[in-house]
Amino acid sequence: TPPHPNLRRVMLKISGEALMGDQGFGLHPPTVERIAREVQSVHKMGVEICMVIGGGNIFRGLQGSAQGMERTTADYMGMLATVMNALAVQGAMESLGIHTRVVSAIPMDQVCEPYIRRRAVRHLEKGRVVIFAAGTGNPYFTTDTAATLRASEMSCGAIFKGTKVDGVYDKDPVLHPDAVRYDRISYDDVLTKHLKVMDASAIALARENGLPIIVFSLDAPGGFQSILSGEGTSTRVG
Ligand code: UDP
Repeated sequence: TPPHPNLRRVMLKISGEALMGDQGFGLHPPTVERIAREVQSVHKMGVEICMVIGGGNIFRGLQGSAQGMERTTADYMGMLATVMNALAVQGAMESLGIHTRVVSAIPMDQVCEPYIRRRAVRHLEKGRVVIFAAGTGNPYFTTDTAATLRASEMSCGAIFKGTKVDGVYDKDPVLHPDAVRYDRISYDDVLTKHLKVMDASAIALARENGLPIIVFSLDAPGGFQSILSGEGTSTRVG
């Protein structure tokens, strides 16, 4: 059974970079499989799982536009990158025997289902993991905003943001050994202190919908499950 009634249904947001391992680009299948196992252990607890996966391991809109590409075109390429990542994770999940649906904000019927809210809810009720691909479907947004939007639409109890560090620090803990981790921080403090949790539109949307964001490390094996069970270190935003 889920560890907490508020956590019957949750959103897991991971960046595309979480899938590339040490390669610096693209997809690293053993890493994808490891993440699928992290999700599997939480799925076994009876938690309904939504996922949003970024695309930064393949393409970022801002990067493309900095090189002279039209921003909107580059953003659509970024959204397509998230679909590739979603398919990779779906494949890894299904080889573990977990029924998984990829639903895309940009319809591409031969590849995956289009996003239809009530259908996505139905998948979750049936115990399928739902991966929301193609971000929000709109340029100028990020997958952090997509995760917040879909988590709100799916009535998730919280967004779990898996990162390389075990929470939100007052400064970059990689560069500053004296950095201090927050146990809990308000949305407003994240915005005014310009802490790099999620972009400002995602934080504002989470604040408006009272959706907590839990930042934790995906590098620690079993990390997702222990954080969901209230163990380990993390930061709660909101
Ligand atoms: N993107 C977009 N609209 C969205 C979500 C994503 O245009 O709603 C594009 C944007 O160009 C972004 C890229 O897709 O740079 C990849 O997403 P993101 O940067 O959020 O991936 P992450 O950093 O989480 O890997």
